Amino acid sequence: MEAWTQAWRKAVVRAQRPVARGTQLTEVELPDDLPFPFEPGHVVSLRMETPQGMVRHPYTVCGANPESRRLVFVYRVIPDGRLTPAFATLAAGAEVEVAGLHHEPIRLEVDPTAGRIVGLATSSGLGPLWGYAAQALTAGERRPLHLAVGVRNAEDLPLEAELEALGRIHPNFSWSPVLSRPGADWSGLRGRLTAHAGELVPLPVESHVHAVGNMAMIRTFEAAWNLAGLPDRRFSSEGFFNWNAEADETAARAIADCFLLNRGSALSRPSR
Ligand SMILES: Cc1cc2nc3c(=O)[nH]c(=O)nc-3n(C[C@H](O)[C@H](O)[C@H](O)COP(=O)(O)OP(=O)(O)OC[C@H]3O[C@@H](n4cnc5c(N)ncnc54)[C@H](O)[C@@H]3O)c2cc1C
Repeated sequence: MEAWTQAWRKAVVRAQRPVARGTQLTEVELPDDLPFPFEPGHVVSLRMETPQGMVRHPYTVCGANPESRRLVFVYRVIPDGRLTPAFATLAAGAEVEVAGLHHEPIRLEVDPTAGRIVGLATSSGLGPLWGYAAQALTAGERRPLHLAVGVRNAEDLPLEAELEALGRIHPNFSWSPVLSRPGADWSGLRGRLTAHAGELVPLPVESHVHAVGNMAMIRTFEAAWNLAGLPDRRFSSEGFFNWNAEADETAARAIADCFLLNRGSALSRPSR
């Protein structure tokens, strides 16, 4: 491990904006001379002084610009959380600290031999997947790239404008929201992500799946992937929370059956 990854570095807040109800995007600048090799999917430690003292958590890089030396984070603001309510309300110019360079960027986790890429996210897990998609598509990625995000209802959908913009520019990009408690007028997918594996991963044998967020979702999809005998190198993930969760075996079996039959209907655009 290189010495600079151990250092706590000053990070100055440059921009703050909500990207959905309860989900915040914060941009920070690292005004030092240390290396800046960050990419979407890298994880850093972030620490700051809060009303409850110094608090430190890992956050996943969603965007990184080596010229402006800015990092973008997208995170759930946890009501009563120790760090996120304080972080989300910092004014421009406020300082926090970041350290480290952990995990691989998503770019390196996606199997280059896969014919299509599917990102599965719960809530703020969409942030790194959005960052990866923007990075890959800008760099000329031509494979079909689909992102699916599970949230409660439409107001909780993060980064909707950003995903729509990517879809307008890149015809091989698409995304689908899955709402667990939608209003009566919602015509898109309902329930949990795990109930829609057939539509979200219609061609598993050709796909690389990267799942981010709640460990319950990740473990269930990972169990299904293994039950279906799909290759390990085509499934990668980043867990944010719910570490004690176990795979839902019934859901995993159903998803695996779906994968084995290689069935699934083409995704249609939801309307509101
Ligand atoms: C490798 C790694 C990368 C991470 N990257 C991100 C990221 O990019 N964005 C992000 O939002 N979080 C991310 N997290 C979670 C993050 O580190 C914190 O746990 C989270 O922000 C809670 O901070 P807090 O101090 O406000 O809440 P705390 O006071 O620590 O309260 C934690 C409570 O909130 C729950 N919780 C934590 N994260 C979430 C979540 N996303 N949605 C719902 N409930 C949650 C926990 O299960 C726990 O019950 C990551 C975690 C890991 C391990």
